[in-house]
Amino acid sequence: MNRFNGKTVLVTGGNSGIGLAAAKAYAAEGARVVITGRDTATLEKAAAEIATDVVALRSDAASLHDAKHLAEVLNQKGIRLDAVFINAGIAKFAPFADVDEALWDQIFDINTKGAYFQIQALLPILNKGAAIVINGSINAHIGMPASSVYAASKAALISLAKTLSAELLPQGVRVNVVSPGPISTPIYGKLGLDETSLDATAKQIQAQVPLGRFGTPEELATTVLHMTALESAFIVGTEVIVDGGMSQL
Ligand code: NDP
Repeated sequence: MNRFNGKTVLVTGGNSGIGLAAAKAYAAEGARVVITGRDTATLEKAAAEIATDVVALRSDAASLHDAKHLAEVLNQKGIRLDAVFINAGIAKFAPFADVDEALWDQIFDINTKGAYFQIQALLPILNKGAAIVINGSINAHIGMPASSVYAASKAALISLAKTLSAELLPQGVRVNVVSPGPISTPIYGKLGLDETSLDATAKQIQAQVPLGRFGTPEELATTVLHMTALESAFIVGTEVIVDGGMSQL
């Protein structure tokens, strides 16, 4: 399929995990791809892997300045966007009693405030008919211990997609959320667990998925491409859950 021939797509956090898989899938379907992240080395590596028409830009999702700068740079390059995957995010877990303001701010600044102001900054360079997908999480729906801040930061994105859809649809922009269950990406390695605890955590998580396994970044990418393709113009202001049945338990 070449559903994105002649289209330009931005994937935030396109240098790793789900974002990288989505960026590659868009490129494989003909899109010019813009990827962002903070780490320049992995951005360059990702750009080389995506290979075709790709622009890699360093941009911190937690920085309002960076969000505006990103939109300015793209505008200067004459780039207008047909699809945006707001994917950059972090996961950190801590028991409720241990959560402090710094942890709350770090998670919300990237996952929630970042999504909000990146969309606001990008609005002037969106083409009519543009589709935005925000990466949420199944944690918004399940009561997993120690996930209170992360879960709240992701749950807010569902309301954001609904309200923005109501507001932006008249301008030809639709907004949705994809909520993944556990997907095997480097995010788990960033939790600060030693190898034994990481292994035990992975087994625990896997046991909670009726399908009996983690999802792959490519499976997520398939859904994101579908949600942003023209064929899905009727998917508006809603959430698509991709979780191997986890939220059914
Ligand atoms: P990865 O850790 O592989 O990717 C995270 C991406 O986000 C990286 O590209 C990282 O780039 C980028 N990122 C993080 N913080 C910032 C920041 N401040 N500014 C810009 N980019 C940033 O994890 P995943 O692919 O798993 O995660 C992608 C999204 O999917 C996240 O929003 C996560 O919450 C969500 N998700 C993942 C699940 C999973 O099981 N894997 C389940 C549910 C949701 P860099 O390091 O260069 O900043």
